[in-house]
Amino acid sequence: MTDNLSIENYEIVNDLLLVSFIDKSDAIIPLKTLREKCHCAACQGEKDALGNIYKGPDPVLTDMSFQLNGIKTVGYYGLQLYWKDGHNAGIFTGDLLKKLSE
Ligand SMILES: [Zn+2]
Repeated sequence: MTDNLSIENYEIVNDLLLVSFIDKSDAIIPLKTLREKCHCAACQGEKDALGNIYKGPDPVLTDMSFQLNGIKTVGYYGLQLYWKDGHNAGIFTGDLLKKLSE
C-alpha cells in the first residue's frame, strides 16, 4: 500500500465538496462529479478473474442522487458519502478526491 493522502478537514459549500489535506493542499470537487465517479461495485461494476465486468443496470439518477444527506469519515484516509437517494456504498479516499479535483 502506498501512503494515502490524509484528510484534515472537509466542508460542503453549495454543490461543492471542499477538502483540505494534511499536506496543506486542497481539493474542490462538484458533488455531481463525486456521484458520477463513485467507485463502488454497484456504480462501476465488479471485475472477475478474467477481467469481465459484471454490472447491474445503470442506476437511475435523480436530483436527489446529487445531494448529500451527510458525510462520515473513514479513518483518516477517506470519506463515505450519504446521498439523498439512499446510496452510500462509495468510499472516496484522499488520493481519489485529489485526482477528481484535477
Ligand atoms: Zn456507488
